Amino acid sequence: MQNAFENGMEQLAKVAKLKNFDKDLIARLQQPDRDIRISIPVKMDDGTLRIFEGYRVEYNNALGPYKGGIRFHQDTEINEVKALAFWMALKCAVAGIPMGGGKGGITVNPKELSKGELERLSRGFVQKLSDILGPYKDVPAPDVNTTPEIMAWMADEFAKITGDKTGAVITGKPLDKGGSEGRGSATAQGGFFVFEALKKELNLPEKCKVAIQGFGNAGSYAALIWKKAGHTVVAVSDSKLGIYNEDGLDIEKLIEYKKSTGSLSGFLGVKEITNTELLETECDLLIPAAFENQITNLNADKIKAKAILELANGPITPEADEILFKKGIPVVPDILANSGGVTVSYFEWDQNLKGEHWTEKEVFNKLQPILDDSSKKISQRAKECNTDLRRGAFILALERIEEKMK
Ligand code: NAD
Repeated sequence: MQNAFENGMEQLAKVAKLKNFDKDLIARLQQPDRDIRISIPVKMDDGTLRIFEGYRVEYNNALGPYKGGIRFHQDTEINEVKALAFWMALKCAVAGIPMGGGKGGITVNPKELSKGELERLSRGFVQKLSDILGPYKDVPAPDVNTTPEIMAWMADEFAKITGDKTGAVITGKPLDKGGSEGRGSATAQGGFFVFEALKKELNLPEKCKVAIQGFGNAGSYAALIWKKAGHTVVAVSDSKLGIYNEDGLDIEKLIEYKKSTGSLSGFLGVKEITNTELLETECDLLIPAAFENQITNLNADKIKAKAILELANGPITPEADEILFKKGIPVVPDILANSGGVTVSYFEWDQNLKGEHWTEKEVFNKLQPILDDSSKKISQRAKECNTDLRRGAFILALERIEEKMK
């Protein structure tokens, strides 16, 4: 299977062919402005020293400072971070916010570290990168396995080193440390606004049966939001297993249950299923909200959902995209569907620099029209070119980046 960066480049090549974009623009977007690899020494609790490998990829800053999350995962490697940084550049363009694309990561299973070790590792990441980070240079945020607390440690480390106390160097901070209202649920809430904007076009019923892969930040908030809006969430999963109930899951209870037991296993009144079965569940809407490369040429043919909305980044490979397109299953692409996260991150940055604090209502009232407008424009581009929404989204993003780069 291709790695995530190769997938991203294949998507770019397809759009370049379809729309005849300027060759120089495409060449510039075939590699990041720079990719930085660092080693982070951490004194472990038992007195030994461990060296962790970290990355920051600054992909493109035509529209504004590099912007993108930091992932802590044992499988994180440079190609994954490059792919995520590339998609961030396009995502910020799709959202029409003045930010460029970047991404970071550390190869680590954070569940194996104590809290103190995790804090030293997070601060170590900033120590190594303090020269290139900054509110007007490169602004990280959370991603898989990174929490508001980790963002607060990083912001504090940056303030200690540089004296910049605005907090605008990093987003996704806790509320009492300059975080924005609504940032926690922003990715899922934004996905829901996009779903509402495109629901008719996706030929979905008024009330949908929904299956969600991944029950972390994006997935659990999505389950809550879709359920509160009257849809039926029939299945969810985490890295260990999935659970299913045809009549719908009690999401509030499930969130409490997962918090107290650390697992979905043993939740009453459900059937336990595998992640493979979850993806192939009979439903109206499938929401991948875990990792890349989940729907591939091996399982795309077995998908029974009527539509897919990508809250995860890169969950569908280019080969699977073609299969789904032929099967008539529309895909709302990641760079639109999960762009609510980075948009509210941009709001946080803006509030920090202006010394303001907006209510959650204000935040979502600003977010919804942005996503409505992007959804409409992307759908138009797709129709004009007789193509899918992913290519429509790439076209809109490339138009905006090209205009600025010129
Ligand atoms: P998270 O760490 O909070 O949650 C990840 C979830 O995926 C966990 O429940 C984990 O158990 C589950 N998981 C891991 N491996 C799995 C597997 N093989 N099958 C099923 N589930 C699995 O991370 P998150 O922040 O929710 O991010 C999830 C996805 O959403 C990522 O692709 C991320 O890049 C994307 N995303 C997140 C945000 C955000 O604001 N958090 C914004 C944009 C995009």
